[in-house]
Amino acid sequence: MSIKILKGNIVYSETSKKLKTCYGYLVVDGELIEGVYETLPECYQDYEVKDLGDRIIIPGLYDLHLHAPQFPYRGLGLDMQLMEWLDTYAFPTEARFSDLEFAEKYYDRFVQEMAKNGTCRAVIFSSIHSESTKLLMNKMEQYGVGGFVGKINMDMLCPDYLNEGTDKSLEDTERWILETKDKYDLVKPCITPRFIPTCSSGLLQGLGKLANKYNLATHSHISEDIDEMKIVHDRYPELDSDGEVYDKFGLLTNRTVMAHCIYPTANEMDLLKIRGVTIAHCPQSNGNVAAGIPPIRKMLNKGINIGLGSDISGGYSLCIFRAMSEAVYLSKLKWLESKKKDDFLSVAEVFYMATKAGGKLFGNVGSFEKGYIFDALVLDDSNFYVDQENLTIEERLERIIHLGDDRNIVQRYVSGKKY
Ligand SMILES: [Zn+2]
Repeated sequence: MSIKILKGNIVYSETSKKLKTCYGYLVVDGELIEGVYETLPECYQDYEVKDLGDRIIIPGLYDLHLHAPQFPYRGLGLDMQLMEWLDTYAFPTEARFSDLEFAEKYYDRFVQEMAKNGTCRAVIFSSIHSESTKLLMNKMEQYGVGGFVGKINMDMLCPDYLNEGTDKSLEDTERWILETKDKYDLVKPCITPRFIPTCSSGLLQGLGKLANKYNLATHSHISEDIDEMKIVHDRYPELDSDGEVYDKFGLLTNRTVMAHCIYPTANEMDLLKIRGVTIAHCPQSNGNVAAGIPPIRKMLNKGINIGLGSDISGGYSLCIFRAMSEAVYLSKLKWLESKKKDDFLSVAEVFYMATKAGGKLFGNVGSFEKGYIFDALVLDDSNFYVDQENLTIEERLERIIHLGDDRNIVQRYVSGKKY
């Protein structure tokens, strides 16, 4: 038995409705949460207690959608429309990740920045290149950022220099899966078609088979943009939505995470719920790309699991506090748009999305309930100065969500280990 005891202001979610708070003790046995206690039970009296004073302890933050090769040019081209931005920044930079020296340099910085911003696990697009994707996975294991990484797949509607061809795309992907699926403790390969427009039906079918054969997570974009959805509809006029196309090829499972879902049909929402798909809501990117505001309240009411994503570099900030804050902000615009029918999101709801809902994808992480794996952040909000002592823990957390950044994160734990 390896017992660790932290003392401080503890906040976590059991449900999306209400935050659980306690000034007291968090007891961890190995990598598993043993319990949260106001008074330390008798049986732990002889163990050392790490007293964090007035600091706040929360579960780890999870980033469910981002593009690692887009890290070098985050914050650029935000005044462009999507296609111009892809041609100017996304595709040419992605091509540079065939160069392992370039990949090594940027992925090292990228993973360190994710860690600094409190991300404990993430679901990440890399590029089409297997070798640099392996470098990215190595860096994540090294710096203690867990999750799923996908070598992406494209065989049409992309520049020639990024077109892999169907057979080569599938062969490279299977080889890379075999090389990486049992190699790491924290990181796993993930099936990652870029999105339906850039993948032929042969490629999507092959990827569905690989996801099923190796029991892997699947990650892509869904119903993000009117133009994108038109391409899909023209190609599959007999199907209702992006969701039905992915489902036709076996790519919607309870191991699937789909980014955005801005224009889901009623049938598509039912399908996502039935298949147990998780949606990655990326509010900063939705605004930057001017794609639209997703109907988050409607999807939550359907019972669809929704986490948060930074969508680097449709979004420019790696910090999931930003995603929480902007999810609230965007939901207020949606509330107005719905003539005040679709209630906006509460602090408890966005916190739940960033922790327990996002964590579901990786197993039992994202809460401090007994038996959960111990992923956590220790937060220090003393730089806000004003009125700390008159605020509740809930209010202090709300202020960190809206004003906080990496400077407020003083410790990060992943699978019970401090990084
Ligand atoms: Zn994306």
